[in-house]
Amino acid sequence: MFCWLSRLCRGLSTPTRRTTQLIWSSASRSLVLSSQRKIPELSSFVARTNTCGELRSSHLGQEVTLCGWIQFRRQNIFLVLRDFHGLVQVVIPQDESAASVKKILCEAPMESVVQVSGTVISRPPGQKNPKMPTGEIEIKVKTAKLLNSCKKLPFEIKDFIKKTEALRLQYRYLDLRSVQMQYNLRLRSQMVMKMREYLCNLHGFVDVETPTLFKRTPGGAKEFVIPSREPGKFYSLPQSPQQFKQLLMVGGLDRYFQVARCYRDEGSRPDRQPEFTQIDIEMSFVDQTGVQSLIEGLLQYSWPSDKGPVVVPFPSMPFAEALASYGTDKPDTRFGMKIVDISDMFRNTEVGFLQDALSKPQGTVKAICIRKGAKYLKRKDIESIRKFAADHFNEEVLPIFLKTNENWNSPVAKFIMEEQGSGLVKLLETQEEDVVLLTAGEHKRACSLMGKLRLECADLLEARGVVLRDPALFSFLWVVDFPLFLPKEENPQELESAHHPFTAPHPSDIHLLYTEPHKVRSQHYDLVLNGNEIGGGSIRIHNSELQHYVLATVLKEDVKLLSHLLQALDYGAPPHGGIALGLDRLMCLVTGAPSIRDVIAFPKSFRGHDLMSNAPDSIPPEELKPYHIQVSWPTDAETEKSSSNHPCRSES
Ligand code: ASP
Repeated sequence: MFCWLSRLCRGLSTPTRRTTQLIWSSASRSLVLSSQRKIPELSSFVARTNTCGELRSSHLGQEVTLCGWIQFRRQNIFLVLRDFHGLVQVVIPQDESAASVKKILCEAPMESVVQVSGTVISRPPGQKNPKMPTGEIEIKVKTAKLLNSCKKLPFEIKDFIKKTEALRLQYRYLDLRSVQMQYNLRLRSQMVMKMREYLCNLHGFVDVETPTLFKRTPGGAKEFVIPSREPGKFYSLPQSPQQFKQLLMVGGLDRYFQVARCYRDEGSRPDRQPEFTQIDIEMSFVDQTGVQSLIEGLLQYSWPSDKGPVVVPFPSMPFAEALASYGTDKPDTRFGMKIVDISDMFRNTEVGFLQDALSKPQGTVKAICIRKGAKYLKRKDIESIRKFAADHFNEEVLPIFLKTNENWNSPVAKFIMEEQGSGLVKLLETQEEDVVLLTAGEHKRACSLMGKLRLECADLLEARGVVLRDPALFSFLWVVDFPLFLPKEENPQELESAHHPFTAPHPSDIHLLYTEPHKVRSQHYDLVLNGNEIGGGSIRIHNSELQHYVLATVLKEDVKLLSHLLQALDYGAPPHGGIALGLDRLMCLVTGAPSIRDVIAFPKSFRGHDLMSNAPDSIPPEELKPYHIQVSWPTDAETEKSSSNHPCRSES
């Protein structure tokens, strides 16, 4: 179905030809996905006989009717017509008798919509265009109809024309005409279709829609609130269908899935949207391995074949190892540069801040080795790395050049004893021109800092031409054995769920729940792809008493808010578990799009605004009356501040 994309490109010559060709060629490879099934009928029920992209020499002599947008016109003789399937050349008749057809086709502005009828003819010798899939033929037009004229556009509908994202979002319906957006949305649709097939047809899942008007419940992300006509009562938009899917298991549905819309009022973050889509799944009588195998099969089945095979089972890594070696719970395992604990080597150090750190109970010294760092990193890079550590972690980071000291002095070089130096070389397998970055501090904090620097250094090296992460590689990883609870950031004495409050404890740690809850591991698993969390789930607590204990005693939540769930667990709830895949993020990685907004038809801006319709918008006070709410208007100073954040000014 996507072959038109590759054809389109081959017919065009642009300054950004290389980039465009990359898009085209990957688009054309995706053909394989659609060619695995029956070829769809693309011209049924509509006012055309064929699509622009499908005509070939085999159609010679056929009378066709095409509908599309005027992409290009040359010397009032040729016109290139485009639809979702490709491009075709139309010959504008020049004879007197067809003056009205000529007038329509020559006067219609670019991007006007026309219908043309005529005969498929062979292009004259020497005029064939091998770069265009329809390049052997052209349409000798007999009749033409202007279906709708196009006004002057805010930007040209050509992928290589640069436009700001704010402008693209403001005119999203035009942006959707681009090759890239068409490709992203069509591939998304194909993958979702394959997922539905796999879940419903191959594994007996039931697609159930759950409410989006729900109520505020404890735990998890901040919810959007919807006023109701009852004074002081509000709905909430669910952050996920979590409770409903568990209740469906109590209801005996056995295997549920939904392409579910979720809402989280989390403010602006680069890879998040206030509303997003999950492939939400729940199963009864399943364990962790069962859910993981299902997801591996699902991704293998729905994966576009031009993106390389998905090798299963995916590797698995305990959370503690992910943190220790990569400084994050979503490690990018496409490259090494792992964090190494070098505390033992520095027990007798003379370096003050290392001594300080090691004298504390959780104190550690950590290092990463940047291969060829001395060759590729500049002095200013090292400075900005150290500044980042100081600004964000209040930590020191020291660069050490073990073999080539170059001109960048390491502030600690003279304090590193020979045996420490050789120990580091051995442990980190350091070679000529490598740089070691070293920090000290509490284990989790030091790992987290090193994890960030690892990624930062990878970006820097790649910007200098080193290939660290193969862009064609998809590296899946299960992260498992998470702690069930984590100390709250704002008050570390209190605990919060690492996943959500319905996650079951690890069977071997249940006894600790009542004595040392912070030590309990959970049956929570996350799926990571190339350093991005693309899914997460857990085996659930199906025992009402245990759920009550976790909510009330450990998490100190108001259990009344969840009485419906606690009650349901008492009425013969089967053991169950599930997972949700973040569809937008997954598609972003599959398509290689720079942002999740590029795989969503109508996304919100970075600040959560719809730049096309200007949502959220104000409502007159009289329309707020039925909801018994009143706006408490901000002061002048606040207005000033928020207007400087106005979407059109700052959202690009
Ligand atoms: N509802 C969870 C989430 O959105 C996923 C799950 O536990 O199934 O993260």
